Amino acid sequence: MWYNFCNEPRRARCLCVWQADYKRRSHLHSHQQQMDRLLLYVNQSTECIMSRNHPEHRRNIGIIAHIDAGKTTLTERILYHTGLTHRMGDVDEGTTVTDFMDQERERGITIQSAAVTCLWHDHQINIIDTPGHIDFTAEVQRSLRVLDGGVVVLDGVAGVEPQTETVWRQADRYGVPRIGFVNKMDRTGADFWRTLDMVTRRLGARAVAIQMPIGSSPVDGGGQGGGTFRGVVDLIGQRAIVYEDDEQTMTGIPSELQIEARRRREQLIEQLADVNDEVAERYLEGEELPPELLHAALRQATLAGQVVPFLCGTALRNRGVQPLLDAIVAYLPSPLDVLAIKGQDPVSGAEVICQADESEPLAALVFKINTDPFVGRLAYLRVYSGTLRRGQSVINVNRGEKVRIGRLVRMFADRREEVEEIGAGDIGAVLGLEASTGETLCAAERPVVLEKIAFPAPVMSVAIKPQSRADQDKMSLALHRLAEEDPTFQVRQDSRTRETVISGMGELHLEVLVERMKREFKVAAEVGAPQVAYYETITRPVTCEARLKRQTGGHGQFAHVVLELEPLEAGSGFVFEERLRGMVIPRQYVPAVEAGLRDALEEGVLAKHPLVDIKATLVDGSYHEVDSSDRAFRTAAAMALRDGVAKAGPIILEPIMRVEVIAPEDCTGDVIGDLSARGGTIVGIGPRANGLHQVTAHVPLAAMFGYATSLRSRTQGRGTFTMEFDHYAQVSAETAQELMRRCA
Ligand code: GDP
Repeated sequence: MWYNFCNEPRRARCLCVWQADYKRRSHLHSHQQQMDRLLLYVNQSTECIMSRNHPEHRRNIGIIAHIDAGKTTLTERILYHTGLTHRMGDVDEGTTVTDFMDQERERGITIQSAAVTCLWHDHQINIIDTPGHIDFTAEVQRSLRVLDGGVVVLDGVAGVEPQTETVWRQADRYGVPRIGFVNKMDRTGADFWRTLDMVTRRLGARAVAIQMPIGSSPVDGGGQGGGTFRGVVDLIGQRAIVYEDDEQTMTGIPSELQIEARRRREQLIEQLADVNDEVAERYLEGEELPPELLHAALRQATLAGQVVPFLCGTALRNRGVQPLLDAIVAYLPSPLDVLAIKGQDPVSGAEVICQADESEPLAALVFKINTDPFVGRLAYLRVYSGTLRRGQSVINVNRGEKVRIGRLVRMFADRREEVEEIGAGDIGAVLGLEASTGETLCAAERPVVLEKIAFPAPVMSVAIKPQSRADQDKMSLALHRLAEEDPTFQVRQDSRTRETVISGMGELHLEVLVERMKREFKVAAEVGAPQVAYYETITRPVTCEARLKRQTGGHGQFAHVVLELEPLEAGSGFVFEERLRGMVIPRQYVPAVEAGLRDALEEGVLAKHPLVDIKATLVDGSYHEVDSSDRAFRTAAAMALRDGVAKAGPIILEPIMRVEVIAPEDCTGDVIGDLSARGGTIVGIGPRANGLHQVTAHVPLAAMFGYATSLRSRTQGRGTFTMEFDHYAQVSAETAQELMRRCA
């Protein structure tokens, strides 16, 4: 009977998978439940296929949150309700679906974004799970870049936490429209309204409550605690959604909540009237506003970033998840609602606009590389325009290479499904594609580079030593693979100590990567103590040159290069340009010059730290018909750069962190004194809830080792802090002396 539903072989295959899944779980459910679930599958298969060609039926969303707010649990519940996982995963038991890696399960943190597709009514929702820990900022940024909308999860007891502010600011930076979900409403002390108030005051957002909790307000006997949380009032639909075990029921608003619900609905309408003329006019006329108008006004204002609709529930107890799914579909943008992405023509630099239209030429951005020990490399990408097809030949613009697209897969919670194509506005993965994060794939007829994702330079490093000779080779391979996946992870060889040094965004980041190396690549290695990652740069432009001339018996070696060096803005890395006039150096040697410059950038002239933020332009030089070679030009270029840097006012840079401390008011003076003694600059002080104060400071990372212990003793264990990379700054004269002495 299964095949009666569909005519196409592909649809039949989908249904077979679902049928098998249905059988697998059949012992879990009553007959009625089995039939309901089966119907859901069948509907979803048809709906999925119907909506496949409709980008307006697609939502690319991220679930962004402070660590422990319940993002993983919520993702699990979403996957459960959308019918694609056979068992609700439980973070505490370590069985979640989005946390693919063992380690994540053990640590309970989602380190790598897993892109998961699920279906809700006639919509396809692609969820990019973003990490909450700040050490993995690159992952957060990378996912925000490819998302159209976000669900911000807050803990109903803790409210807005420091890292919520960080992710909120990042979402603002990328212009991501969002909705809020106040989770953990079952916990004692959870307070929806206090949390919304914090969102308004601290994040400067216009939080619009579209629900009202049932069972946690003083009015209906719930008291301050959330232990009696039973459901929500839908303020737009004017009905109650209540939960009994796992069952969701719609009922009328309980009589004891009606006055409060009317007042809250009035507030919602007033907030919408501030941003929508039609709502304002009809409200002033005293008209009853239909739900459709309110939905439309809310959608419009959310997409414009004017308001953030808020819902509440408890992921753990599975309450409030279906209304959240409805809200994702109702208020978050489809790929057609967001501005078309702008890229550049790689040759002319002219702007290229890529519309979310499947009939346009292809433009897709690789936003994540994952090495799966079973299937190999998976390149996750977002198609911005056109269609990416299996077997198609496309251009990797960043590498200037033609590549053939192998197998295409879409990731569901518990399986991969091979697909023939991925259309504009959709997310999927290519198996075995040699590409790196941030690279663009496009059609030959319209070359385009989509804006690269800017990642900060790593701030911390550790030396790492393989235990045996056999481990040496495996370690190089493993580190190389991991660095390809993660642009904020770098590997280099320290010429002084001959050790391999790895650098990343914090201690936890490096710990996780070392663990992965040990587990996934089976490398035994010893790890040194973490060190701050220093860099060197120049402060003024210079012209420099080097002439290599060696006569050693037969062939000699000759190369001569003249370079202009200039300092670049922080975060620019290294830029190379060639501006030769005529054939003073044959073009074939230019790549060797660039390679030589990159060699020399690995060690600065002051204390052998890597050089950054420099532009080198090859302007002149000469060659010899017989004695010139790639090797000679590579050596000469490195010599010229070293000479130039020494004359260009070199300085040493260190990472400065943005540190946010929350501590009781009576400890604030002590906290400030300690941060100042560590060379910090205080950038803000302000009150927080419950008699706590927040101190924000910029402090050199080098001075932050052991800070957790110090803060604990100064605040009798009541203080907490978070730290995030802010910028690089020149080290003090004493630090520079010390670093130069150490490497002498
Ligand atoms: P993440 O770090 O944001 O991914 O958060 P998790 O989903 O790992 O949840 C962190 C902890 O909070 C786990 O122990 C969860 O069981 C718990 N948790 C998640 N949602 C709820 C909830 O709605 N109520 C309660 N009481 N606990 C929750």
